[in-house]
Amino acid sequence: VSTSKPDTATAEADCLRGIGSQRLWSRLMTLGEIGALADGGVNRQALSEAEIAAWQYLTGLAAQGTGRPIEVSTDAAGNLFLTLPGRYRDLPPVLLGSHLDSQPAGGRFDGAYGVLSALEVLLTRAERGLESERDLIAVGWMNEEGSRFAPGMMGSQAFAGAAGIDEIRTVCDADGISVGAALDHLHTVFAGLPRRALGFPVAAYFELHIEQGPLLEAAGTNIGVVSGIQGKKTWRIEIDGESGHAGTLAMRDRRDPLAAFARVAVALDNELGHADEQVKFTIGRVVAEPNAPSVVPRKLTFSIDLRHPDNAMLTRLGMQVEALCSANARSCSVRAVPLVDAPSNGFDPQLGRLIETAASAFGYSSMPILSAAGHDARYLAQVTPSAMIFIPCREGISHSPAEWSTPEQVGAGADVLYATLEAWLQTQNQERHDAS
Ligand SMILES: [Zn+2]
Repeated sequence: VSTSKPDTATAEADCLRGIGSQRLWSRLMTLGEIGALADGGVNRQALSEAEIAAWQYLTGLAAQGTGRPIEVSTDAAGNLFLTLPGRYRDLPPVLLGSHLDSQPAGGRFDGAYGVLSALEVLLTRAERGLESERDLIAVGWMNEEGSRFAPGMMGSQAFAGAAGIDEIRTVCDADGISVGAALDHLHTVFAGLPRRALGFPVAAYFELHIEQGPLLEAAGTNIGVVSGIQGKKTWRIEIDGESGHAGTLAMRDRRDPLAAFARVAVALDNELGHADEQVKFTIGRVVAEPNAPSVVPRKLTFSIDLRHPDNAMLTRLGMQVEALCSANARSCSVRAVPLVDAPSNGFDPQLGRLIETAASAFGYSSMPILSAAGHDARYLAQVTPSAMIFIPCREGISHSPAEWSTPEQVGAGADVLYATLEAWLQTQNQERHDAS
């Protein structure tokens, strides 16, 4: 941001007014009533009646705004777009947002905070008469959580072209209802909404989110400038042996998949789990069959969740999985079935610097942080410069009714989102004017 230009002084003063956290907080609490559980948690599944009610709440807020009206639209993937029109409507818009769906026993902040803050930024700009050259869009991505329909991040993947909409539509929930049928229902309820093209060009994407981890709180830091999302690979490993009587089958004749698992697990933990300081290696699920105290198991199935921020390292470690399993299974046979393969991504460093500057302008402390959890921004980063802003959450708890951030923390993140957007818009105007 150039500070020498005379007109930036007023713009910077506007930035520093932030967005006023009280209205945002009360709206966040109201949104948390939609799909509310008795214990204070939220169950708002993707494309459910509760999420439809959340759409109605947000479009209602958008309609109440003063100043330029906010336009509501959707797309074939059931993403919600709330657009504050800019001066030149053919310029690619800026997207700010997150998701409105939750885990079955989720909290009030995960996702909802990012969408509501994005809308609040737009409403505040409209109220202050701030006009931008390009459209500003608050977006709610369809099915980030992946709990009703798996996998998650369907809306952002469809938007970024990482997954096909036809394929997504065939996925069914536990009741046999397809994404396609649920999307058609959503679009029937909101029949009047214009339909945008899937994956229209975007100038930049900003996502504000709770950290869902303990680092910011532990460091006493207000704002996390997210450097990227760590990569993740998962497998299902099947070890086949031979069942037998625990009292009669001689040890030398056994093909015991549980004994094989013990050797394999130690080898994997040694070689992968201690490869360096950054790796995360987890065996979270082990199922022996028939799982009876006096029976040598016939089969054992276990899961591997392997994460690392460095893609080359993640690939290198991942390539060892099959060999480590086979080498330690002895007389049993092993099959490694790869499931998830999501490489790590780095967010735009230039946008990161804008976030850092915006935070310090308000007097908020900030630090770079790697996201250990996945987010829609992972897919947006494939098609446009993207950034994420984190705020602390109590004890790092998320995906739980106990999920909590204070009104001050919520307000601080929204202030930084507001000011980062303003600073980014100024750099864009500068570039456009320099070019002309
Ligand atoms: Zn989320």
